[in-house]
Amino acid sequence: MLASDIDGTLVGCGGEAALADYLRAHPEIGVIYLTGRTRANAEPIIRHYGFPEPLALATDIGADVYWGPDLRVDENWAFQQRRDWSPRRVLHALEGLDGVKFQGRSSHWRIVFQIRDQEALACAKAQLVRAGIACRTLWDGEEGRLDVVPRGALKGRALKYILARLNLKAQQCFVAGDAENDGDLLEGRYRGVLVANASLSLRDHLPPVILRSPYEGAYGVLDGLRQFVDDPVAMFRAEYAG
Ligand SMILES: [Mg+2]
Repeated sequence: MLASDIDGTLVGCGGEAALADYLRAHPEIGVIYLTGRTRANAEPIIRHYGFPEPLALATDIGADVYWGPDLRVDENWAFQQRRDWSPRRVLHALEGLDGVKFQGRSSHWRIVFQIRDQEALACAKAQLVRAGIACRTLWDGEEGRLDVVPRGALKGRALKYILARLNLKAQQCFVAGDAENDGDLLEGRYRGVLVANASLSLRDHLPPVILRSPYEGAYGVLDGLRQFVDDPVAMFRAEYAG
């Protein structure tokens, strides 16, 4: 099983066709996609590059899970997210804060705010805690953008759920990622690969079971996946020895 992020990992850094060819030549490798995108934004990308149909697709950083090939939404999972999720309370908590401006909803799970500076960011976060709101916040410093998502919107959590439903063990799964929201995929529960274009903050905290590929994007995934498929045990040992 390959469980991979999409942007910056499968696509965007070259090698997409090579990886798609490899996966098509190895239909025994099931693919699970875990992305910050919505389903509507993820599906066309997967199709465009000729990647295999998803066994499962986790969107909005794991807030929604869809099952392939017809991508039925997992109502049970969505119910779990919805249980303690109230966009109205989030909006109410941050209403009128200086330097914090509501931008809109980029999906039914994501509430987006434009934040003026670090001080306003600290205020916003403190306010969410004070209001007792169960959520996660994702900060993009370059764009001054704060996304508020349900507490359970985590790729690693979604993957654990997907594998359990498929009756698969962690050892059967190989993960790939490039950014902070892949952090909980790459924390050591699964073997996997960090692609060369990954964010610096991730590189410093990698467990030994995660290969650091010298290749970017899809080439990096291919590099890691080949080693895992050819000899998973040797790869595991090499990583520990190294
Ligand atoms: Mg990414």
